[in-house]
Amino acid sequence: MEKITSFTIDHLKLLPGLYVSRKDHAGDSVITTFDIRMTRPNYEPVMNTAEIHTIEHLGATYLRNHPTMKDHVLYFGPMGCRTGFYLLLAGDYESKDIIPLVKGMFTFIRDFEGEVPGAAAKDCGNYLDMNLNMAKYLAKKYVDEVLDHISEERLVYPE
Ligand SMILES: [Zn+2]
Repeated sequence: MEKITSFTIDHLKLLPGLYVSRKDHAGDSVITTFDIRMTRPNYEPVMNTAEIHTIEHLGATYLRNHPTMKDHVLYFGPMGCRTGFYLLLAGDYESKDIIPLVKGMFTFIRDFEGEVPGAAAKDCGNYLDMNLNMAKYLAKKYVDEVLDHISEERLVYPE
């Protein structure tokens, strides 16, 4: 079988950032898949499952309630390697186009207080596996160290 595109990125050169992973066509529409890379692959510890799960619940809640972008949101979820998330939007976008959206999402997570939406046995397959404090810590780190002063090398995949 052929190696798929996302395995051809040199992960040793990849910094935490916000990248376009791929663009797909479905009928007449373009679907943009973003790579929201939160930790540096193979150089720093990956995120644990509980905080990833909390970011997933809070991020999806934010995105699906967003006043202007909610109808474009197709999917938001974690990478299996636990270094980041994928966001799929209907439309043809570059990563700089969605900096405000992603910053809004991680600021929402950073500042979130209270019950995590959907963290109940009826609503989720593993509702006790949550870590809000670590989710907030990671969201703050991503805003402060990546999104607040994002440079070109963190917006476009390395050659
Ligand atoms: Zn869940």
